[in-house]
Amino acid sequence: MPPISGLYRDLAGLLDRRRVLTGREDLLAYANDATPARVLPAAVVVPVDGAEIAAVLRYADRRCIPVVPRGAGTSLSGGATPLPGSIVLDLKRLDRIVEIDKANLMAVVECGVVTQRFQAAVEDVGLFYPPDPQSLSVCTMGGNVATRAGGPRGVKYGTTKDYVLGLEAVLPDGSLTGYGGKSVKMSSGYDLARLLTGSEGTLAVITRIMARLLPLPPARQTMLAIFPELDPAAQCVADLMAEGAGPCALELLDRVLVNCIEDFLHMGLPREVEALLLIEVDGYPAQVERDSRLIEDLCRRYGSREVTVAADAKEAESLWRARRALLPAVSLRAPTVLTEDATVPRSRVPEMVRAIRRIARANQVEVGVCGHAGDGNLHPAILADRRDPELMGRVARTVAEIGREALKLGGTLSGEHGIGTHKAAYLEWEFGPPGVELMRRIKKAFDPNGIMNPGKIFTDG
Ligand SMILES: Cc1cc2nc3c(=O)[nH]c(=O)nc-3n(C[C@H](O)[C@H](O)[C@H](O)COP(=O)(O)OP(=O)(O)OC[C@H]3O[C@@H](n4cnc5c(N)ncnc54)[C@H](O)[C@@H]3O)c2cc1C
Repeated sequence: MPPISGLYRDLAGLLDRRRVLTGREDLLAYANDATPARVLPAAVVVPVDGAEIAAVLRYADRRCIPVVPRGAGTSLSGGATPLPGSIVLDLKRLDRIVEIDKANLMAVVECGVVTQRFQAAVEDVGLFYPPDPQSLSVCTMGGNVATRAGGPRGVKYGTTKDYVLGLEAVLPDGSLTGYGGKSVKMSSGYDLARLLTGSEGTLAVITRIMARLLPLPPARQTMLAIFPELDPAAQCVADLMAEGAGPCALELLDRVLVNCIEDFLHMGLPREVEALLLIEVDGYPAQVERDSRLIEDLCRRYGSREVTVAADAKEAESLWRARRALLPAVSLRAPTVLTEDATVPRSRVPEMVRAIRRIARANQVEVGVCGHAGDGNLHPAILADRRDPELMGRVARTVAEIGREALKLGGTLSGEHGIGTHKAAYLEWEFGPPGVELMRRIKKAFDPNGIMNPGKIFTDG
């Protein structure tokens, strides 16, 4: 690798030198994502189009310099943590909503478009883009595609992977590739868009996304159900879906996390409860009314002592804002918070909730349980302190045991955050050596020199 001064000179020859950063203060701003590890890269570049990305990748590929694609850096799995000596590609300047095509219910966006901005733009014309990661006010569409991000609405609408009609991407050798487009159907060759979706920056840089849209549901209603016990609340989640109540969002929060939010926002949430379910239904008004009634009955059958309905859109938004504030709220309680991502078939949610509590107790680690429980995706929030190696050892054991338990119950290591660095060591538990070896061969075909985000998904790049 060239010395830093040489690297700066070389990169400044490829794109405007004001968009090449090598100063220590600048690099510090990119040293971490939303996980505790901090690593300074050698340089950060801020390209504005695919041609600049191609030039940087070609340069890095010839010299075997690792490249870390970065959207907003909100990864919870270490996916956007830099590597020593790496070039970070900050993709936020590729931020154009190129087209919203109402007739074909689709849109074309660049990878750096912030998800919430995209959602608002399509809603302005009566359309709907459902994926709603709770980081949506900052995270990018490229980051969402690269991680197959989900969110509360996954329970009814699926996750980002279900809204990718096509992609454009730059390969490590600088060539541009595209797959898919405006057609709803496509059966030509391998589905490369599907393969790049969830590839966590290890195969190529996704530059453009052709996103599927839906008509905007005309009505929605948000409800809050309060449970004196956690177990029946978890059982209620599993049965709500089986009974066909069809919520579009179904979130579970336990007492630890309800109290963290209340400490942070002082919004009058009941501190003494063991569990809250935050539920939303959408569709035509008659359907919303029917589903709301069904849900209320079921919650009461499972011992909910109170079910309230948000009076209007403003009150509903304040409940969802509280849910989105969860991570900052928990961060007030502990210097380091790890958000786990264990996912199980939803009928196994009650068992998984019990297992998480058992594992936390055994390792003497404080864990709050929440999650997009309606689709089986739990997010145990582990309260930790990265300055305490002994505690971090117990936290690592907790993460591994939660992952093993999810697999034992027929689930997966990650429902939506990706493998990143955090779970790379456990990948073989899910796919076995032949499955992981096949994935490595796919990576080698895309990235023969191993420059694309090495150490993510696979421990050894
Ligand atoms: C408060 C908070 C709440 C969150 N809630 C959710 C949630 O509800 N659901 C959920 O799924 N996630 C959630 N996350 C995690 C995170 O926001 C998502 O993983 C999101 O998709 C990351 O987007 P980003 O733009 O920040 O990408 P980054 O964090 O910058 O990158 C994530 C990964 O994608 C790669 N990447 C980014 N852009 C590209 C590109 N254009 N081409 C190729 N690779 C790329 C990176 O290399 C990295 O591996 C949350 C995070 C926080 C901090």
